[in-house]
Amino acid sequence: MRLRYSATGVVAASVAVALVLGFPTNWKKAPVPEALAVISDWQPASLQEPVAPVQLLTVLSSTAVEPETVGWSPEPPARPVFDFASFKAALPVQTWSGTLSTGETLDSLLSTAGLSAPDRAEVALALAAEYDLRKLKPGYTLEVETSPSGFLRRVVLSVDAGVQIEGVFAEEIATRKIVPEPDLVLRAADTTVETSIFATLASAGIPPRFAVDMAEMLGGTVDFRRDLTGGEKLQLMWREATLGDQVIRQPRLSFAALTINEALFEIVWPDDNSGNATIFVDGELLRVFAQPVKGARLSSVYGNRRHPVYGDVRMHTGVDFAAPHGTPVYTTAPGRISFIGRRGGYGRVIEVTHGTDTMTRYAHLSSVPESLAIGDRVAAGDNIGRVGATGTATGPNLHYEVRVDGRPTDPMSEERLAEAASAAGPNPNVHARLKNSRTQLSGLLDQGVTKAKSERL
Ligand SMILES: [Zn+2]
Repeated sequence: MRLRYSATGVVAASVAVALVLGFPTNWKKAPVPEALAVISDWQPASLQEPVAPVQLLTVLSSTAVEPETVGWSPEPPARPVFDFASFKAALPVQTWSGTLSTGETLDSLLSTAGLSAPDRAEVALALAAEYDLRKLKPGYTLEVETSPSGFLRRVVLSVDAGVQIEGVFAEEIATRKIVPEPDLVLRAADTTVETSIFATLASAGIPPRFAVDMAEMLGGTVDFRRDLTGGEKLQLMWREATLGDQVIRQPRLSFAALTINEALFEIVWPDDNSGNATIFVDGELLRVFAQPVKGARLSSVYGNRRHPVYGDVRMHTGVDFAAPHGTPVYTTAPGRISFIGRRGGYGRVIEVTHGTDTMTRYAHLSSVPESLAIGDRVAAGDNIGRVGATGTATGPNLHYEVRVDGRPTDPMSEERLAEAASAAGPNPNVHARLKNSRTQLSGLLDQGVTKAKSERL
């Protein structure tokens, strides 16, 4: 198998500030606080302990949040946000830095830095306001700044994934967490299929679930078990969001090109997870995959299956898309709303008729917009409800059904998807996007040729 790799930073890392907390200075008079007992009990945490960078990022939008523990004053005065930047620039300082080694505690490291016991207690309290100190691990670094006369001024603790906890010590003590923005990285790979796409990707260190994403798009056109005999050329391009050396969020496919028996299948996924993936054969638009739930995974296909609730084999009359509760649901083709309401095991349902013989049904919904009424015209891509688990469902998912003359048909069949493409109308942008994806991919792979030579293990 050949494999070429490369990566390009798209967005430079920048730094954002999470929370700014101020503390009353009368702490020094308080009895030894609980957090200190925690410090002295510190043990290296398990290496599996994940920092949750995605959650941290959600905090970024809030700037100055008052701590909940402001009960020290009956009417806490509105405190200005601490100006970390000008504080840092203000005075000459002496900087000490050190790294936590195995078995070492924060307190002993601070002691090595020359801090007195009251200062060490203050540092621990300040850092604990923004970071669970029980998660400290060997290898984390600490920077301590003191004034020329030895007064503690600033401490920076660097933990996983580029996250830093900064405490400053002046009239007030202030702590903040600094979380870097993730880098968006575009990656590409050039491989040759061996036994299966799944196995090929897995052995090349490419997320193997991309095989499922491709099968979802090419199902009905390519039979992966029958048509792939080995030796097919497969090129992929995908997006990753990284923080430090950790990949956060699931990588997403952007472009795939698969050559089977001289036929070139290309799939372009939308950049922003909106709109529809487009499929090309030898550069000609084959079809548009109109998804009723954007970016959702097909969790159950059409046909006979063992029922997830009743346990017996039943006909599954549609396809299921697993998605979080409340995810918007969109019409897959223009039409007219013919039903809104409850239908037994389907739960809350909305139905749309298309022409005289075709109907699409969207089931297990948690809600339907109140503005919608029977008889309303809808365009393809209109929001007609939200994912839920009403009726007989094991979890939140959209059951999507296409009926022709009242009989269920496979929504993923060639015929249905071709209909969806023609309903969506001609789109001049799709070929421009294909061309753009090809250029990006070959650019990445060209870079990767030289890189791969020096970096190959
Ligand atoms: Zn279903």
